[in-house]
Amino acid sequence: MLITHASQLLTLAGGPQRGADLGRLGIIPDGAVLIRGEVIERVGTSEELERAYPDEPRLDAGGRAVLPGFVDPHTHLIWAGDRAAEFEMRLAGATYMEIMAAGGGILSTVRATRSAGLEELKAQSRRRMDAMLRHGTTTAEAKTGYGLDTPSELAQLQALLELDAEHPLDLVPTFLGAHAVAPEFDGDPEGYTRLLCEEMLPAARRWWDEHAPGRPLPFVDVFCETGAFSLEQSRAILERARELGFPLKIHADEFDNLGGASLAAELGAASADHLVKTSPGDIRRLAASETVAVALPCTPFGLAQPEYTPAAQILAAGGLLAVASDINPGTAWCESMQFVIALACRYLKLTPAQAIAAATINAAAAVGRADRVGSLEPGKQADLLILSEPDYRHLGYRFGTNLVAQVIKAGQVIDFSSH
Ligand SMILES: [Zn+2]
Repeated sequence: MLITHASQLLTLAGGPQRGADLGRLGIIPDGAVLIRGEVIERVGTSEELERAYPDEPRLDAGGRAVLPGFVDPHTHLIWAGDRAAEFEMRLAGATYMEIMAAGGGILSTVRATRSAGLEELKAQSRRRMDAMLRHGTTTAEAKTGYGLDTPSELAQLQALLELDAEHPLDLVPTFLGAHAVAPEFDGDPEGYTRLLCEEMLPAARRWWDEHAPGRPLPFVDVFCETGAFSLEQSRAILERARELGFPLKIHADEFDNLGGASLAAELGAASADHLVKTSPGDIRRLAASETVAVALPCTPFGLAQPEYTPAAQILAAGGLLAVASDINPGTAWCESMQFVIALACRYLKLTPAQAIAAATINAAAAVGRADRVGSLEPGKQADLLILSEPDYRHLGYRFGTNLVAQVIKAGQVIDFSSH
C-alpha cells in the first residue's frame, strides 16, 4: 500500500531526541509512505514514490498531516470498576493521601479488580483500548498493580497478554506488584517488600517463562513515594527484579522528592515517571543517563494541582523527555494522547513539535521499542495516523475533540465499526 499526499509527513526520523534536540519532526512536504505487509519499506515525496510504484494500491491522505502512531509509555490500563464517588469527595476537599489512608484510592480498585473475573477485567479494559486506538495510540505500556498478591497480579499479566494478542493496540507489559502496600500488610510495608522480593517477583519470572517463553520480560515498576514504598524499599525491589533479569521502571517524585529519579539512573531503568517534585540534583543525574524522564501531565490536571514536571529543566540538562497518559481510575482516566499533548504544551511549556516527539519516538524509547515504533522510517512497523487537518500544530492547539481521522496499525487500516 502506498499512502500519498500527506500535506506534512512527520517522520520523526533519526532516533530518540535528547535535550534541545527535542522537536525534530523530519517533515516531508507532500509526503508518501510505502508499506509492505506490516512494515514501512520507503518514505519520500508523493512524486517520487508514485513514479517508483505506479501500480501500488493507493491510500490518498488528501492533503492532511500524517505522523507515527502515538506510543503511550505509562498506563494502568487493567482495572475493574471506577472511582467517580472518590472524585466527588476530592472536590469536597479530601486529599489523595487522605482518601488512600481511609481505605479508598488504589485499594478500592484492588478490591474491585480482585473480585472481577478474567473475562470481566478484559472486557472493561478492552473498551479503554478501543478508545486509545481511536485517539491514535498504537502502542501502550500497561501495568499490573491492582492485585497486590501473587495470584491476582499474575491474573493481570494473563489479561494483558491475552488483550495484546486479541486487540490491534500493542501492549508492553509491566509488573507493578509494588503499586501500593497490600491490604494484608497494612502498616507493614517491610513485610510486603519481603513478599515481593522473596515470592512475587520470582513467581512472576517463573510464570513468564512458562506462559510467554521467548518473549522479552516485562518491566518491573515500583511506586516510590511517601505512603507507598520508601527509597530503600524501592531499591530492594528493583535490585531483586534486576537480578531476576527484568528491565526496570519507577514512579518517582509525584508528591515528595525521595530520590527515585537518581535511583532509576543508577540502576539503568528504562524510565523514571512523574518527576513533579524532583530536585535539581536528581534532574542532573537523570538527564546524564539513558533513563527516559516520563511526564504525566494528566495527573496534576486530574487532581487540579498546580505543579507539573519541570520539563524545561530536564531539557536544559540534556535529558530524554517523553509524555504519557498515566490512565488510571483514581487521578487520570484519559485515553487520549492528543489531550496529553495539549496539556504538555500549556503546562510543560513544550511546543507542539516537542510534545509530538515526546509522544512518539521518545515514548518508544521509554518502553524499549524505539527500534520498532515511534517514527516513520524504513524497517519500522507501519503504525501511522492520518489527521483530519493539514497542519500538525492543530495537535496541542486544539483539545477535547479527536483530530485523528484514520489509524493504520501494522499496515492495516483500522475499521472502527469493530472497535
Ligand atoms: Zn502510574
